[in-house]
Amino acid sequence: MSFNSLGLSQALLKAVSKKGYTTPSPIQQKAIPPILEGKDVLASAQTGTGKTAGFTLPLLHFLSENPNKKYRPIRALILTPTRELAAQVYDNVKEYSEFLNLRSAVIFGGVNQKPQVARIRQGIDVLVATPGRLLDLENQGLLSLKRIEIFVLDEADRMLDMGFLRDIERVIKMMPTRRQNLMFSATFSKDIKKLAHGILHNPVQVEATPENTTVEAISQKVYRVAKGLKTGLIIKLISDGNWKQVLVFTRTKHGANKLCKKMVGSNISAAAIHGNKSQGARTKALAGFKNGSIRVLVATDIAARGLDIPLLPHVINFELPNIPEDYVHRIGRTGRAGAKGEALSLVSADETTYLRDIEKLIAMKLPVEIIEGFEPDPNASTAPVKKQQRGGGNRSRSHSSSGNSKVGGQRSNTSSRRPKKNNYRRR
Ligand code: AMP
Repeated sequence: MSFNSLGLSQALLKAVSKKGYTTPSPIQQKAIPPILEGKDVLASAQTGTGKTAGFTLPLLHFLSENPNKKYRPIRALILTPTRELAAQVYDNVKEYSEFLNLRSAVIFGGVNQKPQVARIRQGIDVLVATPGRLLDLENQGLLSLKRIEIFVLDEADRMLDMGFLRDIERVIKMMPTRRQNLMFSATFSKDIKKLAHGILHNPVQVEATPENTTVEAISQKVYRVAKGLKTGLIIKLISDGNWKQVLVFTRTKHGANKLCKKMVGSNISAAAIHGNKSQGARTKALAGFKNGSIRVLVATDIAARGLDIPLLPHVINFELPNIPEDYVHRIGRTGRAGAKGEALSLVSADETTYLRDIEKLIAMKLPVEIIEGFEPDPNASTAPVKKQQRGGGNRSRSHSSSGNSKVGGQRSNTSSRRPKKNNYRRR
């Protein structure tokens, strides 16, 4: 199948070709036609599947084919959970609309609102936003969602995990009821289905497992190691392998900082990316990692979610996540764009339960290796390390929700949930 057969305008095809895409990805093939027909869509797709173009291209097509000639109200809203993802989606929107007469803006917290407001004042068609800043500017009367025609909820599962349910409800109340809704989520828990039920009308369901990012396609390995020897082992692996671009996951922000310092002390250029870092520091770290000046990016789950890092060959779990789905998200960062990827996990005795949970979720046993000099401690307790609340609590917001929203009545934090079925195996 080619992009030409999807029914997109010439201007969009030109932009797609400029990006170097030749074939639409499975999610694009499945999602673009029903979106162009104006239907609501519920899509199961994680980062790396090409989902952003999957909703952006038909959205831009609709807006440009049905122009609002009189003035420029915001007609499409794309809501994302993190600043990084918002910035990335915005970059895509800009690239795909290069040959269209459409304007867009991105808004997120952690930076001065003035330039964002100035951009909105100029008149925009598409707004990419994180929930907090969006509500903030709306409350200040600096933007209106009353003319939204298309609403995209990106990474809906992560939205719920980060405690954004109430914010989503508030945003929905600010939009007209007649609109097209598109919802993307990597996982489908009961809560996600409930949220979808409240937002979408007779949705077309589409599903795609990322190419080359299925659990089976990534080479995975577990190193059993004593907790105190992990830092030495990770430095050895990166140095011996002469790896140039490694994404490392820690469970906590503090752990990310500490490991980053140790790496730098061993002459491995590294930067940490997590919720406590300023937006500027996060952007700089990511840019350095992408251009090769930083070899190791140490990240927490929330910070890494949605990062568009092409051709990432190595992902290392310095600590296993206590939420098994996060393991799948983490290793989905490797083997992208057809490249071969490797996902390694350093596992100490106290992470045994987490490993078991992950193996249960992905329905496979991970191969285990022990490196001489970095053996596990046979006397260490296998009692799990203290559970960490996802997001450290600093991202949840406490906006009160009035009235009986259709999506109301759910708990806003789903971090302890487990999916009922395995969503990750290639079907
Ligand atoms: P996403 O899942 O939207 O984050 O996209 C993952 C990566 O795939 C991004 O770097 C996109 O630029 C790229 N991409 C999206 N669609 C295609 C396509 N049809 N062909 C090749 N690459 C694509």
